[in-house]
Amino acid sequence: MQSLDDSEVSAGPSSRVVYVVSEELVKASSLLPSNKNRSFLVHSLATALGLFKAANPDSGQKYLRVLRPRRATARELLVYHTRDYLEYALSPSRDYQDRSQLAEFGLEDDCPPFHNMHDYIQLVAGATLTAVDALKGDGCDVAICWDGGRHHAQKSKASGFCYVADCVLALLALKKRPLAIAGHTLPATRKPRVMYLDLDVHFSDAVSQAFYNVGSTASSQILTLSIHYTSPGFFPPSLLSDLSNPDDPAFDPFTLSLPLKAGASNRTFARIWPIVDGIENTFDPDFIVIQCGVDGLAGDPVATWNWCLDGEGSLGSWLERMLRQWRGKKLLLGGGGYNSTNAARAWAYLTSVAMGSPLPPDTDIPEHRALPLYQPSFTLDVPAGNMQDENSEEYLLEVERRFDRVREALNCRLTGGTRSV
Ligand SMILES: [Zn+2]
Repeated sequence: MQSLDDSEVSAGPSSRVVYVVSEELVKASSLLPSNKNRSFLVHSLATALGLFKAANPDSGQKYLRVLRPRRATARELLVYHTRDYLEYALSPSRDYQDRSQLAEFGLEDDCPPFHNMHDYIQLVAGATLTAVDALKGDGCDVAICWDGGRHHAQKSKASGFCYVADCVLALLALKKRPLAIAGHTLPATRKPRVMYLDLDVHFSDAVSQAFYNVGSTASSQILTLSIHYTSPGFFPPSLLSDLSNPDDPAFDPFTLSLPLKAGASNRTFARIWPIVDGIENTFDPDFIVIQCGVDGLAGDPVATWNWCLDGEGSLGSWLERMLRQWRGKKLLLGGGGYNSTNAARAWAYLTSVAMGSPLPPDTDIPEHRALPLYQPSFTLDVPAGNMQDENSEEYLLEVERRFDRVREALNCRLTGGTRSV
């Protein structure tokens, strides 16, 4: 792989799209047990596709500004995580033999301790916070951190392949932004609003729960909306993962849930786009954190949805619309994705969309060390499989009706709330 750290040198000051990566981050992230070597494949493909360098810097061709992540400090991690969890997980010399302690901190089953886990936690959190720092400055509209997006990690324990709650840390950091946001003047009384949109096939349990506040009658600076699959036995179990229901006493209009049934395809996602767009319009966020987990794409081993990269309603078309139509600055994070070459395809393609120069889906995977892994197609696209879309017209109408009322409830709280939490 061409040195990622060198590409920083070639980056021009004019790009408003930032991409966070370093050799150190890739090395640490490639050891994540659930996604071994995925980080290496992701950034290798982006490099091979030339996304980090303009062929001719004077040509006006768009390219990325690469930022090296810093390490999150213990103080930054303590903004959300407990001291006990951090002291346990960040100790490089620990032997991890005590089963009861491992269980206490969730470091078992799908989250085993692994080599240099302390490095991983600090670098991934630091990478997402580096992207947040860039967004808080004036020179950046979109920041990308594909190694982030760990939406199952909890305050005091690892969960669901996730060891660090970088999404929560990002949301907490963004809501602190002072009022002056480039291109938009906020009323002096309004604090920045941050929307979290989760596109991973799994429910964003830890992020949603972190900001869930059912007893409040106030407005909130943070709104979470998870689009996911849920059914008994499908991870993660959570009472918040059912379709949002304003009649439920446990309803919080700032913690929203839109489950889709098996086989969700471009057609279904095209249908629900106006619902998501409506929530964004009503909340009017200054920042949008988009968890772009790609385990809902066709060909993923989770084998639950049938979403595609390209075409009407696709993941690529959603991102293109968000970038074009939504005012707030965007933070793009990774997440699930267990077909590693498809994850690399997807995030390289989304990166090109963020740059405003979408690569054609039939782009050949360029010659690079990992090329043989891209058989048999050797192209960028992730086309649909033959799974049947079980999201019936009847179900989608019900989702629309529910979200019409969700929007009303949200609007009511935004206009009537007197306190901000
Ligand atoms: Zn997932």
